[in-house]
Amino acid sequence: MSVKKVPGGQMNRDRYAELRRILEERRREILSAVHDKIRDVRTEGANSTTHGVLDAAETSEADIQDEIEFALIQMKAETLTKIEEALRRLEEGTFGYCFECGEEISERRLRALPFAVRCKDCEEAREVAQQRERLLQRRGSASLFLDMQG
Ligand SMILES: [Zn+2]
Repeated sequence: MSVKKVPGGQMNRDRYAELRRILEERRREILSAVHDKIRDVRTEGANSTTHGVLDAAETSEADIQDEIEFALIQMKAETLTKIEEALRRLEEGTFGYCFECGEEISERRLRALPFAVRCKDCEEAREVAQQRERLLQRRGSASLFLDMQG
């Protein structure tokens, strides 16, 4: 094989550049948000030592706050991992294509949902199928309930 694999594979160069831009912008947003948070935590930490020892209520409140902050940072870290994966898939030429039908997922959709793996049509079809399934399950449990009464 003498053909060199181009980034983005068969993908149109403009689309490749646009998708890359969307992902990298998202990554930058998250990184700066995380850096801000870390800086906030550090500043607060410095303040609390100058104010002396916190009483128990304040401490537990601070603990809860810390836990929330930590959960948020962890969530962002997970999103970052997803972005890294998406960028890798973009290089491989598999990002931005519908998992179900293989059609290109629209840029508009990817801008709103960068990790969408299905096109709008397939996602809607899937939601309808899931709703139907839920309805059937509900009906199933309802009839079971009636059986038990009878
Ligand atoms: Zn599709």
